[in-house]
Amino acid sequence: MQRLQDRVAVITGAGSGIGLATAQRFAQEGAKIVAVDLDEVAGAKVADEVGGLFVRADVADEDDVVRMYQTAFDTYGSIDVAFNNAGISPPEDDSILDTGIEAWRRVQEVNLTSVYLCCKHVLPYMRRQGKGSIINTASFVAVLGSATSQISYTASKGGVLAMSRELGVQFAREGIRVNALCPGPVDTPLLRELFAKDPERAQRRLVHVPIGRFARAEEIAAAVAFLASDDSSFITASEFLVDGGISGA
Ligand code: NAD
Repeated sequence: MQRLQDRVAVITGAGSGIGLATAQRFAQEGAKIVAVDLDEVAGAKVADEVGGLFVRADVADEDDVVRMYQTAFDTYGSIDVAFNNAGISPPEDDSILDTGIEAWRRVQEVNLTSVYLCCKHVLPYMRRQGKGSIINTASFVAVLGSATSQISYTASKGGVLAMSRELGVQFAREGIRVNALCPGPVDTPLLRELFAKDPERAQRRLVHVPIGRFARAEEIAAAVAFLASDDSSFITASEFLVDGGISGA
């Protein structure tokens, strides 16, 4: 019997990076995958690869979020794991002096409001089942702040962390665990895009990582699989750092 045998897992942002690696890892561990993404081509590809279901949804849109969980439940009959992971990095210089209100709002919508919507609409399913694991992707910057000037991103991830703690406490007695995953820098398209615009930023970031390299998405996926499984049954409301030692340095 595998750790996630027949668990139904809804993964947002499954088309790329951490979400993609997690869909692959969950499938190896026996889960049934509902892959959610805005990108139809990438999302359908991963769903096909892991033998799961693809739902195209914008996680910042409440109707889409309601529909994605309804589709997951109608197809598989339960929702055991919600990995609320889709996110974006700011499109431009994101120091507080330069960031515009529209860019700020978009980052809050995709990174923070989406997590509120996903938790709000998956919790009723999990409460009826009397169990579930919710993992919300925050970031190490939620705990430590950022040395590289990304105010809207850092604020959004701080919100994800605080919300996860509160929900973890609130629903602990109902068998539902809620944890904030806080990765350090991970070698994914999101990070590569950011560093392509500003190569020095990569070097500045790297010097803060004691392990001396960025994470591979598979290393983050391994931590998500642990949080999704019963191996982490006493872990809730946590900031789960997978950061190559940044927070200890
Ligand atoms: P990525 O860009 O490789 O993948 C993100 C996926 O989310 C893409 O497939 C994209 O299409 C999808 N997506 C974006 N907006 C969406 C929306 N509105 N609705 C549905 N899907 C949407 O990024 P990644 O590096 O794998 O990041 C995943 C999560 O991890 C994000 O929340 C990010 O902030 C967080 N994170 C990343 C790093 C890093 O260094 N890469 C570090 C800490 C936290």
